[in-house]
Amino acid sequence: MKEYDLIVAGGGLAGAAAAFAAARDGLSVLIVEKAASLGGALSGGLVYPFCPFYTETDGKLTKLVNAGLFSEMIRRHNEKIKGHFPPAEPNIHQADGDIRRFKTEYFKMVLDDMAEEFGVDILYHTMIHSVEYEGRTIKAVKASTKAGELTLSAKYFVDATGDGEVMYLAGCDCLLGREGDNLCQPMTTCFRVCNIDLPLYKKELPELQKLYKEARASGEITNPRENILQFYGIGEGIVHYNTTRVVMLDPTDPIALSRAEGIARRQVYEIFDFLKKNSRAYKDAVLISVASEIGVRESRKLQGVHVITEEELFACTRFEDSIALGNYDVDIHSPDGTGTRIRKFDRDKYYTIPYRSLLPKEYDNLLVAGRCISTTHEAQSSVRIMPICVSIGEAAGVAVAEAARSGVGVHGVDIKNVQRTLTGYGAEIY
Ligand SMILES: Cc1cc2nc3c(=O)[nH]c(=O)nc-3n(C[C@H](O)[C@H](O)[C@H](O)COP(=O)(O)OP(=O)(O)OC[C@H]3O[C@@H](n4cnc5c(N)ncnc54)[C@H](O)[C@@H]3O)c2cc1C
Repeated sequence: MKEYDLIVAGGGLAGAAAAFAAARDGLSVLIVEKAASLGGALSGGLVYPFCPFYTETDGKLTKLVNAGLFSEMIRRHNEKIKGHFPPAEPNIHQADGDIRRFKTEYFKMVLDDMAEEFGVDILYHTMIHSVEYEGRTIKAVKASTKAGELTLSAKYFVDATGDGEVMYLAGCDCLLGREGDNLCQPMTTCFRVCNIDLPLYKKELPELQKLYKEARASGEITNPRENILQFYGIGEGIVHYNTTRVVMLDPTDPIALSRAEGIARRQVYEIFDFLKKNSRAYKDAVLISVASEIGVRESRKLQGVHVITEEELFACTRFEDSIALGNYDVDIHSPDGTGTRIRKFDRDKYYTIPYRSLLPKEYDNLLVAGRCISTTHEAQSSVRIMPICVSIGEAAGVAVAEAARSGVGVHGVDIKNVQRTLTGYGAEIY
């Protein structure tokens, strides 16, 4: 294999954005992805919809907090669904939740299109399992493929694997789950049901939630989640469920992760069966789709040059090296059972994310992007959402391109140039 300027480990939303941004600025880029499409949790995990990515005053959308490549992805998505479905345009005058909806399969194809147009190479079905390094430099990653092991080398690396596989394998300082007991937020397998009588279902829902609580109390439902969590807007008569909950298992332990897949699928059946028995709206309902991979909300987090805290988010700290914004709530699904801690973020405020939270202390040619950047357990529960991951990824790609242009390591980039490039491409950083 040729040596690339940049190898992006993991083609989730953060990895895809990092790769597109670096290629846009002229770098040769390879994405190494263990699955068969870009998008990560959005694709394989069926995660839906986008959490809010805008400020809002009196019900009016006032600023797109996550813009740049994220807006471009939405623009292309709306273009692709044109004629098939009504578009969900980011309309600055209308924060009615509609702009958070998207069609999963179309979004995956948009990411394919963008990779093709930016000239990003992709190796699918390729799993990184070890890292070669010398001093402060990552030399190569080794990956398993259908043709055996490949050694893939590059000048720079971005770890966008969600689980922080490269930083972990390279021995970077990282934190699994929460401080103290290392428990992570629960894993969830999302699923979708079609042919539901939606108006009736919405009417029945309060009663169904009551029955669900009773079924949990009697042991008929084993899922520790406190209620049924669902979302609409995918299509006529379709409901998206984000409601299974697997707790106390480590997503980075292969045996625990494998057990989690089975437990979650049993919960899918349990809930579907419960609804078939208790909802008249479910008379003709069909279980149409179960995510091919369990969704991991949290696992390893870099403990890098700066560790973002919940206090910094809620103080709306304006970091001088800001490279992205966010304004999602602290949203911690209980790592050990029932309940969800939500600390609402004011809808008309936003926080900044510093470049230093992408920077490992140990290496000069590695950045981390996406849900595994350097945060506490609490701050990660806000920063992890899809729109923010895209913005972080875009910033990582721009920063690597700036480093390559200046012939420096990732610690040596002129942050003002990174910020200028990002805003030039329409990203919001202040
Ligand atoms: C159940 C659930 C519900 C959620 N709900 C919402 C929601 O409603 N709205 C919202 O905005 N966000 C939500 N989130 C959060 C959000 O989906 C994720 O945090 C975000 O998508 C993470 O993006 P990422 O690119 O950092 O990582 P991922 O999407 O996890 O991407 C990482 C990629 O790296 C690949 N990879 C991993 N290891 C390797 C390896 N060793 N070699 C090669 N490739 C590898 C993976 O296959 C994957 O494609 C939810 C998350 C979960 C799990």
